[in-house]
Amino acid sequence: MEPVRTCVGCRARASRSDLLRVVAVDSSLVLDERKAMPGRGAWVHPSNECVDAAVRRRAFVRALRVSGQLDTQTLTQTFTKRLNGYGNKVNGSK
Ligand SMILES: [Zn+2]
Repeated sequence: MEPVRTCVGCRARASRSDLLRVVAVDSSLVLDERKAMPGRGAWVHPSNECVDAAVRRRAFVRALRVSGQLDTQTLTQTFTKRLNGYGNKVNGSK
């Protein structure tokens, strides 16, 4: 069985492969594409809802134990790009 993690956005439990791993690098939230970066990781569903909820509730800050400001903008941008690029080619733009 796959290890189970809790999504910091909706607090639901899901298997590791259903979630994305996020780490803090130099006070910025970064998507850990290969789920292999060192340090603490926060897990979140690949959905705007969960990412937004986690950012709003500062769940990333708590999960990653970051002190002070955390730049969440980079992550939300990465997510927006990523989610838009996934099987969402309906609008015809390459
Ligand atoms: Zn979630």
